[in-house]
Amino acid sequence: MSAVKSKRPIVIGLEVHLQLNTSTKLFCSCSTDYIGKTPNTNVCPVCLAIPGTLPIINDRAVALGSRMGLGLHCVIQNYSNFHRKNYFYPDLPKAYQITQYELPIATGGYIDIEIDGVPKRVKIDHLHLEEDAGKLVHPTADGRLTGAAYSLVDYNRGGVPLSEIVSEPDMSSPAEAREYVVRLRQLARYLDVSDGEMESGSLRVDANISLSNADGSLGTRVEIKNMNSLKSIERALEYEISRQNKSLDTGNRIVQETRLWDDAEGVTRSMRNKETASDYRYYPEMDLAPIVITDDEIEKFKSGMPELPWEKRERFARDFGLSKEEVAILTDQKELAKYYEDVVSAGAPPARAANWVRMEVQRVLHEIGCTITNFKVSPSALAELVKKIENKDLSSTVAKEVLDTLAREGISLEDAIKRSGASSSRLTGDALNEVVSKVASANPDVVEVIKSGQDKKGGKLKFLQGLVMKETRGQADAGEAMAALSKKLGL
Ligand SMILES: [Zn+2]
Repeated sequence: MSAVKSKRPIVIGLEVHLQLNTSTKLFCSCSTDYIGKTPNTNVCPVCLAIPGTLPIINDRAVALGSRMGLGLHCVIQNYSNFHRKNYFYPDLPKAYQITQYELPIATGGYIDIEIDGVPKRVKIDHLHLEEDAGKLVHPTADGRLTGAAYSLVDYNRGGVPLSEIVSEPDMSSPAEAREYVVRLRQLARYLDVSDGEMESGSLRVDANISLSNADGSLGTRVEIKNMNSLKSIERALEYEISRQNKSLDTGNRIVQETRLWDDAEGVTRSMRNKETASDYRYYPEMDLAPIVITDDEIEKFKSGMPELPWEKRERFARDFGLSKEEVAILTDQKELAKYYEDVVSAGAPPARAANWVRMEVQRVLHEIGCTITNFKVSPSALAELVKKIENKDLSSTVAKEVLDTLAREGISLEDAIKRSGASSSRLTGDALNEVVSKVASANPDVVEVIKSGQDKKGGKLKFLQGLVMKETRGQADAGEAMAALSKKLGL
């Protein structure tokens, strides 16, 4: 992570929009599956705001918002409601957005992050529910999406449920902001609240950043939008820190505004002066009843919570005796964590299984462009393979080949071992001696050098040992091969 320099203390707060994992929109029964769909086909009179229609709240969105709130250690409110946020923009058919304003569904939580081993707690102001807007498309004849003489609007995304998570301004570096988003996304995925994909827009981040004044008071806040990756969050904040420092150094003041991040150019550009709440003329949404969640329902949400990322990390370290680094990789995705646990449950020793899942399984997944959920190697097959390595029935070199075959062809472990040319058991005794004799007679010069005592550093002997290992396709134990060689050569 690049460290950014600033002579003034940095204050960052983030607003994260998460698309909730529902099948229908927040206030109608239109599908939320809008990606790649023909424009304006996932719409109905409600989400198109035809007069006379009424919104009806999606219970699953309420449940998912509550779940995320609990994951963030927030208090779930028994009573919350919706407001109309008025602004005219063509992507909003009603000319207002239905959002929670005064009474959000969840308030006052936190999430713990860690930078270079140093823990930090980032407080959450609140989480609220709101509907997404449609999308404007600006086509041009040559296919570029800028500079068009007209715009098109697609309302397929309009009304899709979002939860907006607003942090306190507790972060003090771009690296912390990035880590916060990483942890938040991991939590959302563990809870099945959202797929958290930044690329497809399921997770969107707006950053508020200011540099403190010499007297410690907060400086003027600038909002940055349009960051589409973790990397771009860091880059945009770094750029903005240096821009604001330069501006203040030359005696200018910072303007409160919204700026757009241009990823290609690596700069932020002024988009508009930042609106204040009064610009939106919020008023209560009278078409919707308040959301009432009873204590019993909150208890039910709590008891339905799965194991959370930090709980899993703690358990893996404790039960499997793994290092912090190993645990971090294995629990990054809950699917990988489950795979690892299944391998251990199938009898593989935890330490070696951790090593294999973390290194070899990840390598193969990367090479064949596959995810752990559609990985062809079952946990029990990997467990058998790991046990064979542990018992020295298979060398790790051969085992890696076997894993490759299993992953690519999905055949049985036995067949994959046969295919590798290795026997499924270790080469010892007479079989090993036979190989040793063969290697010795094929290399009389080397044997002569060793026997005459000229191989002082043992390099020649090691060379022969390597040939034995190669000849046995790694099916001999290196120590046993050396012992058999020494005996053969009368050392
Ligand atoms: Zn609709």
